[in-house]
Amino acid sequence: MKPWVDAIAPYVPGKAKIDGRPVVAKLSSNENPFGPSPRAVAAMQEVLTGSHRYPDPASTELRQALGAHHNIDPDRIVCGTGSDEIIHLVAGAFAGPGDEVLHVRYGFAVYEIAAKRVGATVVVAPDNDYGTDVDALLACVTPRTRVVFVANPNNPTGTIIPASEIRRLHAALPSNCIFALDCAYAEFAEGEYEDGLALADAHANVVTMRTFSKIHGLAAQRIGWGYAQPAVVAAMHRIRAPFNVPTTGQAGAVAALADHDWVAKTRDHTLEWRRWLLGEITAMGNKGLRAIPSAANFVLVEFPAEGPLTAEKANAALTADGIIARYLAVQNMPRCIRISVGTEAETRAAVASLRAFVEANG
Ligand SMILES: *Cc1c(COP(=O)(O)O)cnc(C)c1O
Repeated sequence: MKPWVDAIAPYVPGKAKIDGRPVVAKLSSNENPFGPSPRAVAAMQEVLTGSHRYPDPASTELRQALGAHHNIDPDRIVCGTGSDEIIHLVAGAFAGPGDEVLHVRYGFAVYEIAAKRVGATVVVAPDNDYGTDVDALLACVTPRTRVVFVANPNNPTGTIIPASEIRRLHAALPSNCIFALDCAYAEFAEGEYEDGLALADAHANVVTMRTFSKIHGLAAQRIGWGYAQPAVVAAMHRIRAPFNVPTTGQAGAVAALADHDWVAKTRDHTLEWRRWLLGEITAMGNKGLRAIPSAANFVLVEFPAEGPLTAEKANAALTADGIIARYLAVQNMPRCIRISVGTEAETRAAVASLRAFVEANG
């Protein structure tokens, strides 16, 4: 094994099952609790009989639909096997041994894997109470920095920085450094928001990344995309898998994008129940629990540093009640649990379980 591969800590996905017990709510992976749009399901069913043919290697229809939807140039879009692949393409095309890849502490776990996979050195900037700190990131930039990954809103923290901060960060980065802006949770942000599309149009060192796994409810189909200037897109095409998005995924994504009602319903529901979830956990503040303000479809809960109310025990209590949340010890956050916004019943069940744990142990 290459030493840089040996140095990778394996990605630990959110759990999907509990041994010996039916699942009441799976709130571990920030999925759409309503599932995909029925129109996307119908579109996928329609193409199943063509499964003996390879998919369109260029994801042509999907790129055209995305271009029309976002008013951007389809030729500057590269589709991937989830935005996970786009992250790997950015690292693979622009970083290697001797180069540095920068991200924030408590950032998305795939950035580190993607950087190490290509032999680059990972540099981690300090957070600001779980949030992205632009000055801290800039202080970590060196002549070797080749890629800066920023998720906004961020996962697993749910924190967001304003559009002006995203632009300030980009403006201060050297032009030989790729700014990879991960907007997986763009649709859940409120207020003034920088989706990076105009930035990527105007600057040669920007890649903005999106996914169909979150608001569109198509995580199983593995569809993500990146948007950048032609030279960057060309580099990513060279190293991507030729048939990287399945035919079902391409068809489902096109239909999902057109189902504005499904997207609006998911967004409205998520914002309403995110607010409720934040409020309920904040109400447990007298016991030392803290909800980190979230702009995504999940809430990060921090447990007290001392005493019986640990995140580990809370996670065990939730699991015993059939609730799967994401205990973040694997990401060096042993005091934290991330809870996705589910259906009303699922979200209420998670809070009821957490409250019972707090009352029984606090
Ligand atoms: C979920 C997520 C993605 C990737 O999703 P794909 O399923 O690979 O498209 C990318 N970035 C962040 C921050 C995420 O949370």
